[in-house]
Amino acid sequence: MKKLMAANWKMYKNRADALSTAQELRKLVSDKLPEDREVLIFPPFTSIDRVAEAFSGAQGFHVGGQDYYLHEEGAYTGEISPSMLKDAGAGWGLTGHSERRHVLGEDDELVGQKTAYGLQQGLNVCLCIGETIEQRKGGKVQEVIDRQLAAGVRNVDRDLDPARLAVAYEPVWAIGTGEVAGSEEIEEAHGLTRKKLLELFGDKANEIRILYGGSVKPANVSGIISLDNVDGVLVGGASLASDSFAEIVLG
Ligand code: PEP
Repeated sequence: MKKLMAANWKMYKNRADALSTAQELRKLVSDKLPEDREVLIFPPFTSIDRVAEAFSGAQGFHVGGQDYYLHEEGAYTGEISPSMLKDAGAGWGLTGHSERRHVLGEDDELVGQKTAYGLQQGLNVCLCIGETIEQRKGGKVQEVIDRQLAAGVRNVDRDLDPARLAVAYEPVWAIGTGEVAGSEEIEEAHGLTRKKLLELFGDKANEIRILYGGSVKPANVSGIISLDNVDGVLVGGASLASDSFAEIVLG
């Protein structure tokens, strides 16, 4: 199973900056990218085509959309569809990111609908889950993981190729805060995630990649990536500069 080294650029970068960052990243990484690693960037919608252009023909480099809606076209002002993302060059979609859950009000049901719909429409999907600090302090980590995962994949076809789905465990309290979950916390949460995926998908769950996200940096990535059940990372802040993300990808 290839490790998936993913970057979430959130609402940062204009088209020129996105293109140059992706070009620099390709230059820094492509000759050295190990066979068992893949790179995935989620730029803002406006730069998907530029990142796809920069990665064109490069083995192991992928582009995704940070969100999408539940229809292919229609009167849905402000929304974008999986086929529009694919048309712009994206092969992946992101669902359930904590900023969409907690800032933009998406609930478990909508996240589940989006996950299933994107997969049906031919995108690969990275589904994000993770508890808030209050939930952790209240001893609810397992409850949150079980609930968000069960709802997140409720309508996903159980015959799905497991390489098309990734789950990112991102404790909300570690996103953009500089505070990284400890090794034990990560292994425990990833173990619980694997257990629930096995319950939901059977043996093929061993081939669904589980990424860690939350203040990953060049200095901590090698420790994190070597933990049990960590099959990649999802990186926000430290993915915005090409040299920093290149170190993470190769770290
Ligand atoms: C994220 O946005 O998914 C994320 C993990 O952000 P950061 O790396 O900045 O914590």
